[in-house]
Amino acid sequence: MDLPTNGHSDSSSYLSSDPTERIAAEPIYQGDVDTGKTVVVCGAGGFIGGHLVADLLRQGYDQVRAVDIKPPNQWFQKFPQADNRSLDLREKENCYQALEGADQVYNLAADMGGMGFIENNKALCMLSVRINTHLLMAARDMDIGRYFYSSSACVYNQELQDTADVEPLSEEDAYPALAEDGYGWEKLFSERMCRHFREDFDVTTRVARYHNVYGPFGTYDGGREKAPAALTRKAIEAKMSGSGEIVIWGDGTQTRSFMYIDDCVDGTQRIMHSDITEPINLGSDELVTINGLVDVIEKAVEVDLDREYDLTKPQGVDGRNSDNTKILNELGWEPPTALRDGMEVTAEWIEEQMREHRKGETTSRFAVAH
Ligand code: NAD
Repeated sequence: MDLPTNGHSDSSSYLSSDPTERIAAEPIYQGDVDTGKTVVVCGAGGFIGGHLVADLLRQGYDQVRAVDIKPPNQWFQKFPQADNRSLDLREKENCYQALEGADQVYNLAADMGGMGFIENNKALCMLSVRINTHLLMAARDMDIGRYFYSSSACVYNQELQDTADVEPLSEEDAYPALAEDGYGWEKLFSERMCRHFREDFDVTTRVARYHNVYGPFGTYDGGREKAPAALTRKAIEAKMSGSGEIVIWGDGTQTRSFMYIDDCVDGTQRIMHSDITEPINLGSDELVTINGLVDVIEKAVEVDLDREYDLTKPQGVDGRNSDNTKILNELGWEPPTALRDGMEVTAEWIEEQMREHRKGETTSRFAVAH
């Protein structure tokens, strides 16, 4: 298996089913760090959180605390080397418990999913505001050194995304505000909470606006999966069953950019350790149509698909891309992994999971607690 272009990890240990082998790989983030600090990852049982915990452990941090509402047997990745805790971070007292003695906090915890989930669960998405609010209060009261918040491209004004031939979104395009209903408004509000806790209470906050993230150890079934994983699963099902058919949500002409998980983990830590105080895009600017994404998946999965389009399903905005001018100016870096490289690794991982699941060797690890 070839790893994506950044090639910083030994692919076999990086994707091993053995967590100890996985953290023996070279760290993705290569900056200087003080490994004596205590780092807390909230939402560590989820997709990005699990990868971030792995990378912090690779760097040799002595104290990595991993927190999630799900019971540990449902975490996508779990490392015995971390201090793993099951806590509902909507509750204020649990946030104080989670952050006790911490120097750095990454808040990746949220009730979220792909388009099908966020369009049908707006109130649930907005209730994640409790998590960030209570974590910020704990960070203020406990004098936490640095606090990272994972925002989203869903904060951007919807009216700027009504054509597939979209102008890349730059940071100022969030205002005047017309965010994605529910999920996007919660993210925008929570971004501002970070800003005001920084200005009024001196909490050192950092905010990244993630654009679609994909990769191994992500959700590919169950209703919360996003387009790259959902379409890959469907392509593999079509190959396994021999049907060769795939149903695509929308007409396939919508455009998006997709960021490989390694780049997200790297960029998150670069932003955390930077002086960038305002929210900043963290995304790929390789724009593709959904049909183009399916072309990439067909090659990765080695199948020819008959495409059917379901126009009744949610398809989100018509076009969305990341303007990376600011991150390039600030960090001299942007997510480097090409979609075809990242999707090849992702498709291989999903196919392996599905084959094992079919043989009954694993149970699905993607159940999500509310
Ligand atoms: P995920 O759903 O895989 O992980 C989120 C985790 O938060 C889950 O494990 C969930 O159990 C946990 N969580 C939910 N409610 C909680 C609570 N009350 N207390 C403690 N834990 C709780 O999502 P992800 O893809 O890893 O995303 C991480 C963060 O990045 C989220 O804030 C998300 O909104 C943001 N984001 C992700 C993407 C993406 O493409 N994945 C894009 C934009 C923004």
